[in-house]
Amino acid sequence: MRRDRKPLRRSPPLLAALLALVVACSRAATPPRGPDVVLVTIESLRTDSVGAYGGASPGRPEVPITPHLDAFASGATLYEDAHSVTSWTLAAHASLFTGLYPSGHQTTGPLDRLDDSYPTLAKTLAARGYQTIGVVSGPYLRRTHNLSQGFEIYDQDASSITSRLAHHDVTNPAMLAALERVLAARDPARPLFLFAYFWDPHFDYLPPPPWDTAFVPPDAEPFDAHDLDANPEIHAGMDPRRLAWLRAQYAGEIRWTDEHLGRLFALLRQRGLWDDALVIVTADHGEAFFEHGEKAHKNDLFAEEVRIPLLVKYPGQREGRRDARLASLVDVLPTVLEAVGVAPEFPVHGRSLRAADPDPERAVLFELETSQFAAAPGGPVRAETSLWRAIRRGAWKLVEWSGGPRGSGRRLFDVAQDPGEQSDRSAAEPARRDELARALDVAVRAAAADAGRYHRGGEAQLAPEEIERLRALGYFGDRSGSGN
Ligand SMILES: [Zn+2]
Repeated sequence: MRRDRKPLRRSPPLLAALLALVVACSRAATPPRGPDVVLVTIESLRTDSVGAYGGASPGRPEVPITPHLDAFASGATLYEDAHSVTSWTLAAHASLFTGLYPSGHQTTGPLDRLDDSYPTLAKTLAARGYQTIGVVSGPYLRRTHNLSQGFEIYDQDASSITSRLAHHDVTNPAMLAALERVLAARDPARPLFLFAYFWDPHFDYLPPPPWDTAFVPPDAEPFDAHDLDANPEIHAGMDPRRLAWLRAQYAGEIRWTDEHLGRLFALLRQRGLWDDALVIVTADHGEAFFEHGEKAHKNDLFAEEVRIPLLVKYPGQREGRRDARLASLVDVLPTVLEAVGVAPEFPVHGRSLRAADPDPERAVLFELETSQFAAAPGGPVRAETSLWRAIRRGAWKLVEWSGGPRGSGRRLFDVAQDPGEQSDRSAAEPARRDELARALDVAVRAAAADAGRYHRGGEAQLAPEEIERLRALGYFGDRSGSGN
């Protein structure tokens, strides 16, 4: 056996070159530290309630409703034409965290949980070396629905267990205390991903003083607006003076939440988590005040329930900008991943908001599964489920629905002329209607096809301590599925 074993000549220049190569390789293996990322969602926030979007409270338009958010917008990019993917909390946040439409993430019912097989934003950032921290104050973001996956620290103490209990909650102070706690526990050696979900604008609208009166016009009539979803005094034909009072309470909740948002921004600045951070503020969906005959949300896919504010301060950004391109909640994940230098190795239905090449033919999709409960006199209560879907492309939006008390229907809107989606153009534009209906079919099928890569998450389970807390409250679970 012959071995060509020549003695290694350790020439100093060769050794230096090898060392340089090793160092270069190890640098290449460790990507540069990404920017800190702060993602904030505000519950049920209508775009026309945000000053930077030209919004104001209808009863007292002279009183600023979102001063802190407006100041933030003055140094951020404001997406003028931004939309949720649905009109309720759980499905919207699942899209935010997966970059997938509801058919893709399969978290479409009130008891659903997002399966562990999905690569979420938090998991992807954790794998990239981020410290991932979530602070939430509403029930659908509790661990039981598994949107908490990928977060190293997840604080849900400010949230009630069920939607029905949470309707009476005032959580902003507890939210801020939790944010202070988690930021104190931050590991400065790693970049931060902070997610904060502010619940309080959700009904019931219960702003504390002085915000309970700040937006009330002189002719408004106060009344007991508790239990908004079941309150028979709150209906499409209600007295306009009472409706004005209700709108003023909603505005008060937003002003009160904006105050706490301002305090969060101050905390981030104090801790050096501002100038070079990517900061995103958006909402999960809007809120209806009978524009299409309904109150609150999770009713349909019309503008008041699905248009959302979307504000992004990119790392280092100082100047305010406006972007009129169509944007969707599914765009947030690819935008964040692009900013931190990660190319997702999984399907994403959105695209980076910084994509240089605007696609004028881009379409965005909306999907909603919602149940209403009805009982014939003397008969059992029955849940009737309606399925809604919609597509927006260019200036046109097509909305379709089937099942449930409304039966089935279809509306076509020219949103450039009719942003409130009041005037159905189906009969006047049949070719456009049919073409968009076909595009909607294709889009839903494509979104659903990506679900085949993952498992369906199954039913959310309450933890034993949550069941105990519910028992102690004399309440056992919101299993009716009516929560929104
Ligand atoms: Zn919500």
